[in-house]
Amino acid sequence: MASASTPIALPVTTRDPRPGLSGLTPGELEAWLVARGQPAYRAKQIGDGIWRTGAWSLEEVLTLPSALRSELAAAFRFDTVADTERRLSDEGLTEKGLHRLSDGALVESVLMHYPARGAQRERHTLCISSQAGCAVGCPFCATGELGFTRDLETAEIVDQVRHAARRLAAAARRVTNVVFMGMGEPLLNLDRVLAAVDALNDRKRFGLGARHITVSTSGVVPGIRRLTALGPQFTLAISLHAARDPLRDVLVPLNRRWPVAEVVAAARDHAA
Ligand code: SF4
Repeated sequence: MASASTPIALPVTTRDPRPGLSGLTPGELEAWLVARGQPAYRAKQIGDGIWRTGAWSLEEVLTLPSALRSELAAAFRFDTVADTERRLSDEGLTEKGLHRLSDGALVESVLMHYPARGAQRERHTLCISSQAGCAVGCPFCATGELGFTRDLETAEIVDQVRHAARRLAAAARRVTNVVFMGMGEPLLNLDRVLAAVDALNDRKRFGLGARHITVSTSGVVPGIRRLTALGPQFTLAISLHAARDPLRDVLVPLNRRWPVAEVVAAARDHAA
C-alpha cells in the first residue's frame, strides 16, 4: 500500500534460485543443519550472524567453520538485496532506498527520522515493500502505474530492514518502527508478510515489538478476516481514500470487489 512516488522501471533478469537465509525460521535452519550432520547450535551462530552482528556476508560470520560457510553459500543467499541506491531529502530526515533484487527487480524502502521532542524519544521508522509493483492499480500511485511484477520472498522483505538497521547501527541508532506501506499490497502476499512479521517480531531474530509493526492494506477483505482469525499480532491500518463507493471504485479499483461497507465491517470485526 504505497503512497505516490516516482515511477520505477523494473528490469527483470534471471532470478537467483537460492532462498534468502533471513527468510528461514530458526527451526527450519536447525533442521537443514542437522540433516547435514551439523550440530544444532550452529543455527544460533548463523542467526547471530544474520540478526546481531551486522555482517554483510557469510565470510564475516567467523564463528562458523569455512566448509560450512561454503555449504551455506551454495544453498542460500546471506543477503537478497544486490545493491541499494540511497537518496536523501528533507535535510536528511528522509532516506529513500532503491533496492535491486537478484532478478533486477527494483523495490523501494523509505527511512524516516523523527528527532526527539520533549518527552518523546527519537524514532526511525522504516516503510518497506512487500511486492515488486502492484496489481491493485490505484491511479494516484506510481507503483500502481507499473503493474504487478511479482511477490517478494520473505527474506527480500526483511532484508530491507536489515539494510536500514546496519546503516543506523553505524550511528548507534536502531529501527524503531516498521510499516508495510511501500510497494505492493501486503495482504495479497500475506503468507510471506506474516513470515516477515514473525522474523521482525521474534526476540531471537530482529526483536521489534509487535506494536511497533504496522501493516497497511487498501482493503483486501479476505486478508483482513484471516488476520482477525489469527489474532492481532501487529497494528493493521486500512487506507480507504474515499468513503463512498462511486469515488472509491475509481481511486482504489479493488473496491469494486470489496466495497466500503464490506471493508468497514471487516475492520470493525478486527477491532472488536
Ligand atoms: S494498493 Fe498498490 S496501487 Fe494502490 S496505493 Fe498501494 S501500492 Fe499503490
